[in-house]
Amino acid sequence: MNIHEYQAKEILRKFGVVVPDGQVCYNSNSARDWAKRLNEKGPWVVKAQIHAGGRGKGGGVKLARTPDEVKAIARDILGMTLVTHQTGPEGKVVKRVLVENGCNIARELYVSMLVDRATSKVTLMASAEGGMDIEEVAAKTPERIFFEAIDPQTGLMPFQARKVAFRLGLEGKQIKQATQILTGLYRAFVESDCSLLEINPMVVTAEGDLLCIDAKLNFDDNALFRHRNIRDLRDYDEEDPNEIEASQYDLSYIALDGNIGCLVNGAGLAMATMDIIKHYGGDPANFLDVGGGATIERVTEAFKIILSDEKVKGILVNIFGGIMKCDVIATGIVEAAKQTGIKVPLVVRLEGTNVEKGKKILAESGLNIIAADGMADAAEKIVKAVS
Ligand code: GDP
Ligand code: MN
Repeated sequence: MNIHEYQAKEILRKFGVVVPDGQVCYNSNSARDWAKRLNEKGPWVVKAQIHAGGRGKGGGVKLARTPDEVKAIARDILGMTLVTHQTGPEGKVVKRVLVENGCNIARELYVSMLVDRATSKVTLMASAEGGMDIEEVAAKTPERIFFEAIDPQTGLMPFQARKVAFRLGLEGKQIKQATQILTGLYRAFVESDCSLLEINPMVVTAEGDLLCIDAKLNFDDNALFRHRNIRDLRDYDEEDPNEIEASQYDLSYIALDGNIGCLVNGAGLAMATMDIIKHYGGDPANFLDVGGGATIERVTEAFKIILSDEKVKGILVNIFGGIMKCDVIATGIVEAAKQTGIKVPLVVRLEGTNVEKGKKILAESGLNIIAADGMADAAEKIVKAVS
């Protein structure tokens, strides 16, 4: 799960990470009023709050010198469709802005943390080349990004923080500030069950102080049950409506770009299904994983969700009945087909527990179903049916 920058900053503040004072606003008058409350003489920064980076380049981050300018900028940004390299060409409508105290930037640095599966540790990544183009740094001069693996037994050690600070070219009081910030970031990461934390940029101000002026946090969905306060920050406006609908039924739905809808059980089978569709020259429109213990109701919902995607020109059901029984899936398919009046070709491959019962239900349903034997046959049939 993803949250907004202002929410991430609120969390980080609790861990002693230094971020600018600011306030989220939903209209331009309150943006101006809050600016006056935040400080007396500016400058302020007005920042579009969407779940995507690259806002600066897209015109979603602006510096203001007077409260009236804050208002004018907030009015421009609120309601605009902001297009960045992360939003896709359709962009995202801005519904909230963050008004915060601006600072004079001397240097922009980069810091992030993520779980490195190779070492099974949280890895801190940092670079002196922070700011808006870290992707370019990674592509062209990867040696300018350095890594520090953090031992879960000890957490981030002070010597590691100092090492990072020196490599970032920090000096004097900044070393101590960096240690406080990096330690706070690591604690925030672990204690909030983050999957990703990115500060780009962390800045050295003209006065020589360290400050985190952008913040991105992603959370491990599987741990959200123990962070009610974080779960409540979910912004449904920022998510694919089908993915929201699916999560309400404990289904995992992932939207893709092709035209074949896929209903599968289990993440591994989902991946294999994507691969074999590609192998036969097709393109998945999505995949919907109904999991191990789906009920008829959930299968029906799964079908409705897949069918609501206009890109879907055919559906492949690929189920291995282990815990999930084939007759349950078959009944769900028939039920959903009745409720939605399915008009696109439907290829079904069932295998496993109660497979004969399942096939019988489908055969007697009167629905126009293309039965398949095995995955390869199923993939070939659906690719042919949609082309
Ligand atoms: P992003 O483009 O979505 O990553 O948004 P950021 O929060 O990183 O802001 C983009 C850029 O705006 C930063 O890299 C800074 O150069 C600039 N910026 C943000 N806040 C301030 C500020 O307080 N003062 C100044 N001078 N520039 C800022
Ligand atoms: Mn940024």
